[in-house]
Amino acid sequence: MRILGLFGLAAAIGWLLGQPLSALLLAALACLGWQLFHLYRLEQWLRRGSPTRPPSAYPFRPNAFWNEVYQHSFRLRQRSRKRKRKVSRILKQFQSAAAALPDAVVVLNEEDTVLWCNEAARRLLNLHRQDSGLKVTTLVRHPKFVHFLAQRRYDESLDFPSPLDTDVVLSVRIAPYGKKQRLLLATDNTRLHRLEQMRRDFVANVSHELRTPLTVINGYLETLLDNEDAVPSRWQKPLSGMHQQSCRMLRLVGDLLMLSRLENQGERQLQHAVDVPALLDEIADDTIALSGERGHRIVLEADRGLWLRGHEQELHSAFSNLVSNAVRYTPDGGHITIRWQADERGVHLEVEDDGEGISPQHLQRITERFYRVNRDRSRDSGGTGLGLAIVKHVMLNHGGKLHITSLVGVGSIFACDFPAELQVRQEAPAEAEALEQSL
Ligand code: ADP
Repeated sequence: MRILGLFGLAAAIGWLLGQPLSALLLAALACLGWQLFHLYRLEQWLRRGSPTRPPSAYPFRPNAFWNEVYQHSFRLRQRSRKRKRKVSRILKQFQSAAAALPDAVVVLNEEDTVLWCNEAARRLLNLHRQDSGLKVTTLVRHPKFVHFLAQRRYDESLDFPSPLDTDVVLSVRIAPYGKKQRLLLATDNTRLHRLEQMRRDFVANVSHELRTPLTVINGYLETLLDNEDAVPSRWQKPLSGMHQQSCRMLRLVGDLLMLSRLENQGERQLQHAVDVPALLDEIADDTIALSGERGHRIVLEADRGLWLRGHEQELHSAFSNLVSNAVRYTPDGGHITIRWQADERGVHLEVEDDGEGISPQHLQRITERFYRVNRDRSRDSGGTGLGLAIVKHVMLNHGGKLHITSLVGVGSIFACDFPAELQVRQEAPAEAEALEQSL
């Protein structure tokens, strides 16, 4: 209305002065100037960013339109301020909660640069607030940690000694979140490790202490059984029963000692190239002897030029456990195939049988110590219940995994999958690649 009035007045004065167009132009310019003036004031007010009210009481009162613009901007600014205050309050609460956590929390970006860390990170990982902006691997340099971080395995955890105190064992996990950020969590796992170590030492010591007396008892029993004439006939049966049981105990003690050795094995370099085909020849011969009258058909298919970097005794123990299991759990005359081959995924030892198989509910737990599908059956066939636990540990020590596929009534495949880096190629001898032995 005001503008229309202004133009009306300008037109009237212009008409009186005989210059209506010039007067209208002047009025338009004045109008434009007025709008620019308000725009300028609005810009100044916004730029100042102060929480003062908009300049509505300025000498030149703004019209309803500009008043509306000012008020609206003012309300928006108030709202955004409130939101900011709320967000920063929540952030502070979150930070103080994270800071109070007994576990170390470190926020990393995509390049593993520290963005934030809590108080426990200083205590456990020797990381400080002022370290933000630095790469975590230059601050925590343990090779296992650096390797773990590079692997980006989010479903696994790593145990390694704290950089501040090597007696403290830390368990580290990494969780990805947000836009390529990662949360590193470290927990003090020393107590659990000590308990684990105590358990291992206890089992190892007991087994060690039992071995000598058992060997002596077993030796005397063997001597007595060998001298049939010196022993009254009514003692023969109990003596042979005692001998059987002492042999079983010796096997048990031997397996327990083997397991503790495997568990206590620290980090080591697998340098020695093992002639696995020759090892399997030996195992196949022993298996034929073990099968004896039972007439299993045992086939060995080996890539003769394929050797493996590893620990010979451990590999022998793992492979012969699998093959002897196949004999023990496959009915007389059954088929057992041992395969040794490599492909792009790695190096594989497979033991396949067409024996009784294992039902899915047992498969999950079959590698646990003393877990047996049928206790009596295992005991009668000379089992200790530790065979597959040994295989699992040997595979762990070689960076590999044991995979079991089985169907009840059809048979089982036990596959030891080794990483491809352990493969060693030797000139394959000219003779046949596959050796077949059967009874
Ligand atoms: P055990 O001394 O009892 O054989 P293992 O750890 O070697 O102990 O095996 C655990 C259990 O797994 C066995 O008791 C048996 O039930 C099952 N098992 C192992 N190998 C086979 C196989 N080839 N076929 C069927 N069952 C098997």
